[in-house]
Amino acid sequence: MSNTDFVLAIEDLTVSFDGFKAVDNLTMYIDRNELRVVIGPNGAGKTTVLDLICGKTKSTNGSIKFMNKELTKLSEHEIVREGVGRKFQTPSIYENLSVYQNLEVSYPKGRSVWGSLFFKRTAEVKEQVFKIAEEIMLTNFLDMEAALLSHGQKQWLEIGMLLMQDPQLLMLDEPVAGMSAKERDQTAELLNKISNNRSVLVIEHDMEFVKKIAHKVTVLHQGKILAEGPMDQVQEDEKVIEVYLGH
Ligand code: ADP
Repeated sequence: MSNTDFVLAIEDLTVSFDGFKAVDNLTMYIDRNELRVVIGPNGAGKTTVLDLICGKTKSTNGSIKFMNKELTKLSEHEIVREGVGRKFQTPSIYENLSVYQNLEVSYPKGRSVWGSLFFKRTAEVKEQVFKIAEEIMLTNFLDMEAALLSHGQKQWLEIGMLLMQDPQLLMLDEPVAGMSAKERDQTAELLNKISNNRSVLVIEHDMEFVKKIAHKVTVLHQGKILAEGPMDQVQEDEKVIEVYLGH
């Protein structure tokens, strides 16, 4: 497989903050329809990698190619338009709008809330809202004010809002933090479904959850890759046990 076949090809990526390398010469490839989980101790550089991909942080060196397009020189908005969606830990939903409206305003890319409400109230949008609502298990909550959803449902709604923009790469930062066991299982199912036709990159600490979802795991330590592969291999790796899982 050539490097141009990957959805995401990160090569020799480095970012220094006042001389400290938070990400240090990182090379990592993500396949089409792959669900990759990045694990590692606090301060390993996991969040910084996601910040670099979505353009929130600019690299000191190296390349990030998404569907063969170089991202390092693009703005955050341009990267979203290329098809990269990023969900942070705290959901940024519109609490006073209904679930339906939250999904509706998220389509299409780059429109303001009221602009998209006004211009895009079409059958096509409606169809997409229903499709995504079903995917995120909120079909029965479409008329409910988002503020009234459970913590887990709010997380799913934000995932749905990102899906409305049809990203080819979805990045999630600790998606099950604060969720009940049942919600964690449902989120695992949701992410498995999403990765049927998209690539997904997740930062996660909950190892039981990682085992349920990861096609492959990348272990970061001090800005570098310590180990990479299927979870059952990675968790047997002595270096990984020493710096992370053994703690
Ligand atoms: P993780 O997500 O694995 O916990 P981070 O990516 O948040 O790790 O941080 C990696 C390292 O980079 C940490 O030591 C952190 O303090 C440092 N760091 C991250 N962002 C900045 C920044 N904007 N300025 C200075 N240091 C930073």
